Amino acid sequence: MINLRACKNCNTITDLAKCPKCGGEVSREWQGYLVVIDPEKSEIARKMGIHAAGRYALRVK
Ligand SMILES: [Zn+2]
Repeated sequence: MINLRACKNCNTITDLAKCPKCGGEVSREWQGYLVVIDPEKSEIARKMGIHAAGRYALRVK
């Protein structure tokens, strides 16, 4: 299994040591996998303040 991490700042899921979107710190302690295809139409994306399509963690420790 790939060791995915999530950004502590914007919740983006990545396999890099740093967030590719905001350059923030990433954590291996995260829960929930959210795929946003159309942030305008996704209620969860709106609630989380996500404005770009991508893969996100619901919760990052
Ligand atoms: Zn980020």
